[in-house]
Amino acid sequence: MSELIKKAAALLESKSVQVVIGYGKGTGNRTRTIFATQVTECENLIFDSRCVQNLAVYLTKLEIKKLGKPAIVAPVPVLRSILQLAVENQITESDLVILGITSESELIDFESFAAIETFLTTHKIEIEEKYTKTIDAIKAMPVAERFAYWVKELESCFKCYACRGACPLCYCTRCTVDDNQPQWISVASHPLGNLEWHIMRAMHLAGRCTDCEACYNACPMGIPIHLLTKSMLQDVADNFGSYGPSLDKQNTLSSFKPDDKESFIR
Ligand code: SF4
Ligand code: SF4
Repeated sequence: MSELIKKAAALLESKSVQVVIGYGKGTGNRTRTIFATQVTECENLIFDSRCVQNLAVYLTKLEIKKLGKPAIVAPVPVLRSILQLAVENQITESDLVILGITSESELIDFESFAAIETFLTTHKIEIEEKYTKTIDAIKAMPVAERFAYWVKELESCFKCYACRGACPLCYCTRCTVDDNQPQWISVASHPLGNLEWHIMRAMHLAGRCTDCEACYNACPMGIPIHLLTKSMLQDVADNFGSYGPSLDKQNTLSSFKPDDKESFIR
């Protein structure tokens, strides 16, 4: 990825950006996020199949905004999140420079969010069969069995909120789970508290989640929370249209169509 290093260094040198958000070598065989503010630091940028963190999560963080205008290394999942953040008016085109990376690990320039949207029409979200099979099997369970399944799966959740921290679309400065007046969601990690947290998380991401799996990858307990968001993606697509962000599409849970099949809307 010497081209990426060259491009990032040129952006910093020309002062077009003040920080480059990208991937670097971590401990062991892992990668980590790096924030290059000096031309020499761009040497540490890497990109390979281990780079699965969703760097778009940093675009809304105050600490990062304080560094100045960023350039961001953006493989396809990051591009989807950037587009969704744009749809939600969290970023504008002049806020950032995008160092796009195709599925073939080629660098690609995007001059506008519309250009990202056009590119993503050929990179649509596809939920793998192994997941659809599992989701279908869970949905086919009788209600009590399904309830017991999720209570069991979520039992090891200890509310570290790493899943929330890794998600580019969980950007509220104050999350409902942190509020204690009133206490909407139980703090304790017990079956009810865990269910409340995960139902709330899934519902808040309904129609917004871009299926990057960063939340699942961040979970230290390996809880299959991605099944919830993938299932929600399917439900939204089946009932309200296709998967994925679109500059023309309104948010699923904050808009309605007069011809909605549910009669309560009329
Ligand atoms: S897959 Fe997880 S981290 Fe990625 S957008 Fe959806 S909820 Fe957020
Ligand atoms: S990352 Fe895992 S353990 Fe932590 S809050 Fe999320 S689901 Fe629970």
